[in-house]
Amino acid sequence: MTTDIFDSQSPLVIQPLILPIFAEKQLKVFMIRTDLTHSQISGNKWYKLKYNLRAARRQGATRIISFGGAYSNHIHALAYSAKAFGIESIGVIRGEKVDNATLADARKWGMQLHFVDRTSYRQRHSASWLAALQREIGPGFIIPEGGSNTWAVQGVSELMPDICEQIPSLDYLLCACGTGGTLAGLVSTAPEKVKVEGYPVLKGAEFLYADIQALLESAGADVRCSWNLDKEAHYGGYAKINAEHRAKWLMLEEECNMLLDPVYTSKLLRRFVEKVQQNAYPPGSTLALIHTGGLQGRRSLM
Ligand SMILES: *Cc1c(COP(=O)(O)O)cnc(C)c1O
Repeated sequence: MTTDIFDSQSPLVIQPLILPIFAEKQLKVFMIRTDLTHSQISGNKWYKLKYNLRAARRQGATRIISFGGAYSNHIHALAYSAKAFGIESIGVIRGEKVDNATLADARKWGMQLHFVDRTSYRQRHSASWLAALQREIGPGFIIPEGGSNTWAVQGVSELMPDICEQIPSLDYLLCACGTGGTLAGLVSTAPEKVKVEGYPVLKGAEFLYADIQALLESAGADVRCSWNLDKEAHYGGYAKINAEHRAKWLMLEEECNMLLDPVYTSKLLRRFVEKVQQNAYPPGSTLALIHTGGLQGRRSLM
């Protein structure tokens, strides 16, 4: 049996999250620290990439092609994982050619970068566009943007037994959403009594209901929990970090004594605290938030 980097998974760390408002509202809150799972394959991307990389290897792929923005945590984690598997990778990057710490790491780990304009990038799910792309840059194992596919659902679903074992009284499980792949993985195996809440960080995220449903169906999931999306967590839109959010983000880091990323986890936690203040959760509830990592993205804003 071949072993790979994903065999050496460190134990899942879950910590109490202590803020005065939680005690006041009689809530028990935990942070699930997937950001501590691996130093470079960050947070949820570890779980999303695990079976993607294994599928690529099984199919004998010599090259992986995937998609993301210039600060993408997925591109960053994929570059590192592909290198660990000895598979070439090409990152198809949205927008004009730029250089930053994220892309410098990806390049250092051997990823080739292919920039496409925003109009073309919108076609990234079209089969004919993908065929034309591969005629241009060469064929490869395609992983969609954010890594969200059936393999990702399978990988993320493996978090649930650990979560349930460490927090048997869990009532609510909260997670930031980009493409919704992580939420689909959690929903696919969450027990009936757990309510799963997704916090999209993009505006107009209604379409995510259908995307998540499609991922669940493609994975053949037998969904037992109830789940929904909170549409108020974008605070201006995807990757929009205005002065007010920046201040809240840095204050939450201080109060919670942990680093948060600007795009996802800081908006999740900010929105969650607001809801707690509005009495959104019954006293006595046990809640857990997933720290999905992405801390490499802090570098662009510090
Ligand atoms: C990619 C990412 C997400 C979004 O995950 P999806 O599966 O695309 O919804 C959330 N948080 C962080 C830190 C991420 O890097």
